[in-house]
Amino acid sequence: MSISDNLKNLYLQIPGRVKLVAVSKTKPVDIIMEAYNAGHKIFGENKAQELIEKHSKLPNDIEWHMIGHLQTNKVKYIASFVSLIHSVDSFKLLNTINREALKHERMIDCLLQLRIAREETKYGLNHDDIKDILSSEEFKELKNIRITGLMGMATYTNDDSVIKSEFAFLTSCFSEIKRIYFNSSDYFKELSMGMSDDYLLAIEAGSTIIRIGSIIFGPRY
Ligand SMILES: *Cc1c(COP(=O)(O)O)cnc(C)c1O
Repeated sequence: MSISDNLKNLYLQIPGRVKLVAVSKTKPVDIIMEAYNAGHKIFGENKAQELIEKHSKLPNDIEWHMIGHLQTNKVKYIASFVSLIHSVDSFKLLNTINREALKHERMIDCLLQLRIAREETKYGLNHDDIKDILSSEEFKELKNIRITGLMGMATYTNDDSVIKSEFAFLTSCFSEIKRIYFNSSDYFKELSMGMSDDYLLAIEAGSTIIRIGSIIFGPRY
């Protein structure tokens, strides 16, 4: 199966309201161009360095998403072009993104990453961290970022019930946060959840953005 076939099959399975981010990490630019030439324009990378390099080599109408942990000292290199940062996991990072966005006179859309997995993961905020950030005075000062939703990653397991309950938890946090902090805004609407192994469960649970690598590009070695 070609990359173009893989994309077509995926499009057939996902509802129109769900955005597909093609996760191109570790894949070379000629492979990414195959997906681009098949008509796909939204790509995600999990390392700033790789994102910067690929952005410089690939067509300008690609929408680039940062999906992995982002160090504050790397923000300045992606601030001019990044479309959505899925992985905001601290106020410090958000503050840096705001400052760099201001330098480029733009608004950068961000998702707050909620830690939902059972397994010990290094990155992500818990529910209380998110509330602390959103209710703080410092947050209200940030005029060049916009929180458009939440992102989460389920436990890597074959047990669907675990994945389902983690996605349900993320969805309920999303609704609660929307109700408390974004009730009057229409831009807090994205729920980034679902990868190659669990995207159907994620869509059932209300995902609006899925991040798919292996199904499109094949396994990573
Ligand atoms: C690698 C990665 C994905 C895609 O993983 P696949 O299992 O290949 O679909 C999605 N989200 C994040 C944050 C990733 O790092």
